Order: sequence, then C-alpha cells, then structure tokens
Amino acid sequence: MSAIIIDGSAIAKQVLAEQKILAGRLTAGGHTPGLAVLLVGDDPASAIYVRSKERACREAGVLTFDTRLSADTSENELLKRVDAMNSDPRVHGILVQLPLPRHINAVKVLQRIAVEKDVDGFNWRNLGALLDGHPALAPCTPSGSMILLERAGVPIAGRHAVVLGRSSIVGKPAALMLLERNATVTVCHSRTADLAAMTRQADILLSAIGRPRMITADMIKPGAAVIDIGINRLPDGKLCGDVDFDVVRQKAGWITPVPGGVGPMTVAMVIANVISAAGSTAT
Ligand code: NDP
Repeated sequence: MSAIIIDGSAIAKQVLAEQKILAGRLTAGGHTPGLAVLLVGDDPASAIYVRSKERACREAGVLTFDTRLSADTSENELLKRVDAMNSDPRVHGILVQLPLPRHINAVKVLQRIAVEKDVDGFNWRNLGALLDGHPALAPCTPSGSMILLERAGVPIAGRHAVVLGRSSIVGKPAALMLLERNATVTVCHSRTADLAAMTRQADILLSAIGRPRMITADMIKPGAAVIDIGINRLPDGKLCGDVDFDVVRQKAGWITPVPGGVGPMTVAMVIANVISAAGSTAT
C-alpha cells in the first residue's frame, strides 16, 4: 500500500485563488485588505518566512506594510510599532515574526496586537473563542492542517485523532479543531509514557514536535492519515518533518510531505485571516 500524498502546495494555491476573489470584492468596495509584518533582527529563516507571506499577499491582492527593525530594538519601541499598526485603518492584520530577540517578551508583544487584527490567532481572546467553538481568527498552522484533511477527503468524525505536541500555537489548537469536528482526540507530549502505543491507535496522526523523522513506520496504524507539521533542518541543510516520510508512506493511507505540506497552508491561512479581518471591518 502506498499513501495518497496530500499536496499542500496545490491546495494552498486553490485556497489563495479563492481568497483572491474575496479580496477583489473588498477592493472594489474600497476596502483593500492590508497586512503589516514586523520583523526584528536578521534571522535568515524568519526572513524567508516573511518573504513567502508577502509573496502570497501580492498573489491574493493583499497590501503589505513592512517594518524591519534591528536586533537591538527595545521592547518599548516594538510595542509602539504594534500600537501604530493597531490604529492604522489600512492595516487589517498584524504579524510579528517569531522568534523575537531574547530581550523582548514575545507574549507581551503578541498580546498587544488588537484582537481583531490578530491574524496569527495567538491572542488569548481568539484562543478562548476557539476553545468555545466560535473562532474568529484561528491559528493558521492547525487550521491549514484541517483544510488539508478536509480537501483530501479524510473522514474525521468518530475517528481517533492523536496529536503530538501541546504548544499553544499548534498542538492544543489542533486538538480543539479536531474535537470540534467530532474526532476523539488524544494529545501526547514529551512526558507521554509510551508514544508508539498511542500513535498506533491513530486513524489521524498530527505531529508537531520538531524531532526529525522520529515517527517511524512501526508507529503507524495501516491506512492512517498522517499530517506532518514539524519542520526540521538536517545537518546537510535540507528540511524534513517529524515523520520518516519514505517508510511511513508505505503504510499510511494519506500523508503530507515536508516541504510542500502544511507549510504552504500556514501561509495561505494567514492570508485568509487577513481577508476575513478586512471583511469584518467592511461590513
Ligand atoms: P514547541 O517546541 O512549542 O512544542 C513542541 C511540542 O512537542 C511540545 O509540546 C513537546 O512536549 C513535544 N515534544 C517534544 N519532543 C517530544 C517527544 N520526543 N515526544 C513527544 N512529544 C515531544 O513547538 P511548536 O508547537 O511551535 O512547533 C512544533 C513543530 O512544528 C516544529 O518543528 C515547528 O518548526 C513546526 N511548525 C511548523 C509550522 C508550519 O507551518 N508547518 C508552523 C509552526 C510550527 P512538552 O510540552 O512536554 O515539552
């Protein structure tokens, strides 16, 4: 058996094309969606992420407002920049690219972003709304993962979904989204006693642990849907996921590659959130 490979790049393209139509309608009504991106320091990986988000914005008809700050920018200065974007009517979404330099309190900065412009979905009010089943702006990586499952035709209701990782931005919101879609959900983490015993029960396995190729074929239930969220850089500079793709694809029913799986969907969902935020202010 060989798994269906879920092509995240192709699905992200479809999503962006759909979003472009919505952005066009908003622009015609005088409300062109706008995204402000704040990048502090010169981390090369962050610069790549920011460029890919800006490229996707251009493709979808979303304006971008770029602020690049040096690594020694003070927390106060960054907070002032966030405040300025919060009150700029051209800006419907604000992204502060992580990681921030160590001297800046990332939680404080992220929570300063106005709740209605929080297109990463990290604000506690947006996370609380997700908990209560009424998400307005939901975290992009888990919501992108849900779209991959849905568009690939993976049944979710009544299935056992196992989520690896419990961060507030990926693992926990992914678990809530699966629960909302009527899966029975187990969340695992670094203290889980027997990880393989859990993963072998998974009809749907989402891995967000950041451990290169740790999920091997013997940990997979035959026919399972495997969504690999992890992005890990190998010593030779290449990227890989948490899942040992070449062997797991022989046993799984569906699988996402890294790169070209969840990553492009994360970017597409940021754009979708900006357009949704712009739509809310236009009505
Ligand atoms: P965090 O480091 O915040 O969380 C990692 C989670 O994995 C923690 O809950 C940790 O457990 C758990 N974990 C770590 N090692 C193990 C292990 N050996 N067994 C079981 N659980 C383990 O990471 P993020 O949630 O921010 O990101 C996770 C991965 O997803 C990373 O590789 C990141 O690069 C990637 N990512 C990809 C995105 C995309 O667009 N595709 C976007 C965002 C992230 P504990 O809580 O006990 O410490």
